[in-house]
Amino acid sequence: GSDTEQWIRQPIVVVLGHVDHGKTTLLDKIRGTAVAKKEPGEITQHVGASMVPASVLKKVTEPLRKFFPRLTVDIPGILFIDTPGHELFSNLRRRGGSVADLALLVVDVVEGFQKQTYEALNILKEKRVPFVVVANKIDRVEGWVSKPDSSFLESLKSQSQRALAKLDERIYVIVSKLYEQGFEADRFDRVRDFRKTVAVVPVSAKTGEGIPELLALITGLVQQFMKKRLVTKNEPAKGVVLEVKEEPGFGTTVDAVIFDGVLKRGDTIVLAGKNGPIVTKIRALLMPRPLQDMRMHEGAFTLIDQVVAAAGVKISAANLDDALAGSPIYVVPSDEVLGEVVKAVREEVSEIIVRGSGNGVVVKADTLGTLEALTSALKQMNIPVRIADVGPVTQNDVLEASIVGKTAPEYKVVLAFNVKVLPEAKSLAERENVNILYHNVIYQLLEELDKWVKEVRT
Ligand code: GDP
Ligand code: MG
Repeated sequence: GSDTEQWIRQPIVVVLGHVDHGKTTLLDKIRGTAVAKKEPGEITQHVGASMVPASVLKKVTEPLRKFFPRLTVDIPGILFIDTPGHELFSNLRRRGGSVADLALLVVDVVEGFQKQTYEALNILKEKRVPFVVVANKIDRVEGWVSKPDSSFLESLKSQSQRALAKLDERIYVIVSKLYEQGFEADRFDRVRDFRKTVAVVPVSAKTGEGIPELLALITGLVQQFMKKRLVTKNEPAKGVVLEVKEEPGFGTTVDAVIFDGVLKRGDTIVLAGKNGPIVTKIRALLMPRPLQDMRMHEGAFTLIDQVVAAAGVKISAANLDDALAGSPIYVVPSDEVLGEVVKAVREEVSEIIVRGSGNGVVVKADTLGTLEALTSALKQMNIPVRIADVGPVTQNDVLEASIVGKTAPEYKVVLAFNVKVLPEAKSLAERENVNILYHNVIYQLLEELDKWVKEVRT
C-alpha cells in the first residue's frame, strides 16, 4: 500500500433506548449471528464492541435479495458498541459531535416511547447522530405468529390481518411520537427518501425476525449517505477513550474506539489526563481471545501488533492512571510534532473544562464525556456554569459556590455526577449552606437542579 491508499471503514453503531426495551438482547442476537455465520479466522469480538463482518452481512441479508435485487454489501462490516447506555454514549464524544456514525433507538413496540426514549432522542439530536428506530418485541403483538430468524418481510406473509393491523397501530403510535419530536418517520419499507424520513424497523430481538432487514438497512444507509465520513487511510490513528480500567497483569489500561487510521504497538499517543495531557508509548494492544482458543493460564486477551479503524481495543501503557474517559487519543507521527499534538489535546479539553469567575453553578463529573453532556444540557436550560471539571467535589468547589451564592442564590449549588464528595467539602457545604446535588443519572441530576432553581426564584 502507498501513502495515498484509502478505504471505507466499518460504520460505528450504538444502541440506545429505554431500560428493558431490549438493547442487550438485540446486541446479543446480532453478536450470536455474527459468531455463527463468520468465516474461520474472522474476528467478531472487539474490546467493548462486536464486529459483524461483510461475509456475515452478505449471508444474513441474502434472503432479502428477492425483495431488493440491487442489495449489495460494499462496506467491510459494522462495528456495534457494547454496553449501551446514555453515560457510555457520552464518552463516545469527539470534537463537535460523536464517534458514533449511526444509532439504533430501540423502542418496545408494545410499550412505546418512555422517559429514556425521549432522553436518548435528545442526545442524538444534540450530537446530530443519524438514527434508525428499532421497533422491538414484535413477537408480543396480539396474534403474531413468530417465524424465528426469518426476515420481517417473509414473516409478514404468514401473519393474520388482525396481527398486521395491530402491528401497524403500534408503529403508528411510535411514528406520531417521533413527529411530535420533529421527525418524519415511517416503516422502513414505506420510506421513499431516507434523508428526510426516519426508518422504523420492526424486529424481535428474541426470535430474530427482522434482523436481516435491520442489518441490510444499516448497510444501505451507510453506503448511500455516509461513505465520505467513513473514508480512512494508512495514517496515524485517532480514537476516543471509552473506559479506563484496571487489568490484572497490565495495570491501568484504556478501552478505546479507533475511528480513523492505524494504531500500532510502540506508537506514542497523547490523551487527556486529570492533570493535563498524558504522553505515553503503547506497550501492548489487546483484543479479546476467542472463546475456543482459551487455554489455561493464558488470560482473556490476545496481543496484537496493530489495529485498523474501526476497532475496539484495549491499550496498555505507562502513566494511564489519570486518563479520562471521553478523551481523544491521537498518535504522534514524529517527535517534531509532539508539541502540536499535545496542544491539540489541551485545546480540545479546554472547551469542556471551565474555570470561570462569573455567576453560575459548579459542575463535577466522572468523565470528560459526561461533563460535556452536562454542560451542554445546562446551556440549553440557560443555566450558566462557573466551574466544570472532572473529579470529586472538593472544599474549593464548595467555596466557589458559596461566593456565587452571595449575589445569585439560585446558583449556589454544586452538581456532582457519579463522583465522590470529599468529607471536608461536605462539612464546609453544611456550614456555608451550599446545596450539593448528587446523582448518577444525568437527567435526574438536571431535574433536581431545575426544581431547586425554580424553588429559589419563587
Ligand atoms: P435492555 O434493558 O434494553 O438491555 O433490555 P434487555 O435486552 O435486558 O431486555 C429486557 C427484557 O425484555 C428481557 O427479559 C428480554 O428477554 C426481553 N426481550 C428483549 N427483546 C425481546 C423481544 O424481542 N421479544 C420478547 N418477547 N422479549 C424480549
Ligand atoms: Mg441492557
